[in-house]
Amino acid sequence: MAFRLAAKDDRAVLVKGDGIFDLEKSGGGTFSSDPMEAIARHGELHAVAAGLGDTPDGKLDENELGICVPRPQKIFGIGLNYRAHAEESKMEIPPNPLVFAKFNNCLAAGNADVIVFGPTTDYEAELVLVMGSRARDIPEDEAWDHIAGLTCGQDVSERGTQFASKPPHFDLGKSFDTFGPIGPCVVSHDQFEDPANLHLTCDLNGERKQDTQTDDLIFDIPKLVSYISAICTFEPGDLIFTGTPSGVGFMAGTFLAPGDVLTTTIEGIGTMTNKCVAWPR
Ligand code: ZN
Repeated sequence: MAFRLAAKDDRAVLVKGDGIFDLEKSGGGTFSSDPMEAIARHGELHAVAAGLGDTPDGKLDENELGICVPRPQKIFGIGLNYRAHAEESKMEIPPNPLVFAKFNNCLAAGNADVIVFGPTTDYEAELVLVMGSRARDIPEDEAWDHIAGLTCGQDVSERGTQFASKPPHFDLGKSFDTFGPIGPCVVSHDQFEDPANLHLTCDLNGERKQDTQTDDLIFDIPKLVSYISAICTFEPGDLIFTGTPSGVGFMAGTFLAPGDVLTTTIEGIGTMTNKCVAWPR
């Protein structure tokens, strides 16, 4: 049975309908409260999810959920991984995945505020892979076995910082504090008929800006997992932001401003609502 793993008050919880179940309690003491342990033992979560009763420990309020993967060892981002986005960016389609790092300080909860640090702060709605095992040299046909689940993400990007040097350096412009909200929960991929083909949308102040199926990736999920694992050993909880479709703000010159509301939805996973706020300096 599929599971939906979230975090509340720094504790792992399973979501069922509109209820949440504390994992340490539901697991009969076999799990700790740590969401990172839950991800590393994701294979066992299916049975716990199947055994949940009808009396949750609390009602689901997505505004109360924390960061569903709070301490990944590594966060990878993929640039220019949708053809239409590469074209709108006027950049060549890369011959191999364009991989950059987002640093952990950028992580934020699914409904957290995003701080607008500069005048050219932009949104990028993305499907995020949550790796589930310690592994390297993963063959493409085994990639899904090493993925604990899927979640929504925003790869928020300060374009001025991204293009401040030549060639552009992606890592820093995408790693300001709060520039990596993920959530609302990690959903195991057995939830989906085809986890590689999900509907992803991004609305800015209620206006649809990005709308794609995730099977439109230039480098698909097995390719990304295999490619990166030939270089870096994955650890449970490592994240891969798989790239954003067309419709980001910078080609139109429309950037995020305090007061804006970003809504990111992936079919079967859920919705993140992020309010943009001013940098309090
Ligand atoms: Zn991105």
